[in-house]
Amino acid sequence: MSDGTVLVINSGSSSIKFQLVHPDTAESVAHGLIERIGEPDGHIVYNHRTGVEDRSLPIADHRAGLKMVLDIVAEVGRPLSEAGIIAVGHRVVHGGDIFYSPTLIDDGVVKAIADLSNLAPLHNPANVIGIEVAREELPDVPHVAVFDTAFFHTLPAAASTYAIDRDVAKANQIRRYGFHGTSHEYVSGRVADFLGKDPAELNQIVLHLGNGASASAIKGGKAIDTTMGLTPLEGLVMGTRSGDIDPGIILHLNRNSGMKVDEIDDLLNRRSGLKGLSGVNDFRALLALIEGGDEDARLAYDVYVHMLRKYIGAFIVQLGGVDVITFTGGVGENNIDVRRDSLAGLSRLGIEVDPALNEAKSRDERRISASTSAVEVLVVPTNEELAIARAAKALVAAL
Ligand code: ADP
Repeated sequence: MSDGTVLVINSGSSSIKFQLVHPDTAESVAHGLIERIGEPDGHIVYNHRTGVEDRSLPIADHRAGLKMVLDIVAEVGRPLSEAGIIAVGHRVVHGGDIFYSPTLIDDGVVKAIADLSNLAPLHNPANVIGIEVAREELPDVPHVAVFDTAFFHTLPAAASTYAIDRDVAKANQIRRYGFHGTSHEYVSGRVADFLGKDPAELNQIVLHLGNGASASAIKGGKAIDTTMGLTPLEGLVMGTRSGDIDPGIILHLNRNSGMKVDEIDDLLNRRSGLKGLSGVNDFRALLALIEGGDEDARLAYDVYVHMLRKYIGAFIVQLGGVDVITFTGGVGENNIDVRRDSLAGLSRLGIEVDPALNEAKSRDERRISASTSAVEVLVVPTNEELAIARAAKALVAAL
């Protein structure tokens, strides 16, 4: 039933998402989530054609979680090893200066991804475990790594270079790498299709607004700037991450209150952003607080939108004018207010959102700009799993 599919695995720090997808038709045959790995209240959900398996049980580690999933898959249907899977696609967060395109995984590639863990200590080790277990369980299928940083490899030096001592930067591999690249690439490609234009003709801004959030400026199909940097902490305000702050704040926290590097890491990555300002990181929870008159939540929303507008403005200039601005990610695809407020009052720049189109409920790719708007404004649902599946299939087909 799943012949010709690609198994896509996204192994994160405390969760693993997986999906069996047909790269050609985009049909998702089965998908699931293993969450709260290592905690007493672990949870596995597996959605397949004939039903849903939902089990709560402690999951010791990633290895145990993936094995449980494979057992469940075999219980409710064919074992995955006999399911006609043509490739396994792995999302890998950091490709450093080594990996710029989808890469066939062998032992050397696994080691190189593990060695990049100093640049992505939360992500790459979890990615490696996912790869190792999947290779053990599905040894006869090619495994392909697709890197979150790859799309931003084309950033011009002026955009990828931080103005710090060049020797220190070099010795520590410090540059802007960018993240969410698979999403920015997929969405910008869909935008060109939607508009019936060659990507080479378009100046695009893509706003990927989910739990993590990033914006990119894309000229002629290539990324020329993005908000995330050496790590996914830089740029826009996010669910729990601060986005841009004065780096002097880190020095001040250390000198003034003696906070150590791990505490500051926890503060900026997990206790900042919307959560730090309002107590909640989920956008729907934030909106509910605002509805109830909560002033902290209102300020959090305003700070979020302020930063978004700042980067939209910056990227319009970097691009030398923009043809299309696209919203994606859980917030970008669903939230009317952020789309309206981040582009409000910009008719002088040729940007006008049509209120009725913006408010219309839909899961489809759609235009929300007014007919009088010189700049197109679109909503395009992202689909990183499909993009990974297609990249894996293309690589395997070329072997
Ligand atoms: P991730 O970065 O984990 O992939 P998503 O892209 O799924 O995240 O986005 C999650 C965010 O999208 C959450 O903050 C969630 O509240 C928000 N979101 C999802 N649906 C809606 C909605 N209908 N209205 C507002 N926000 C939403």
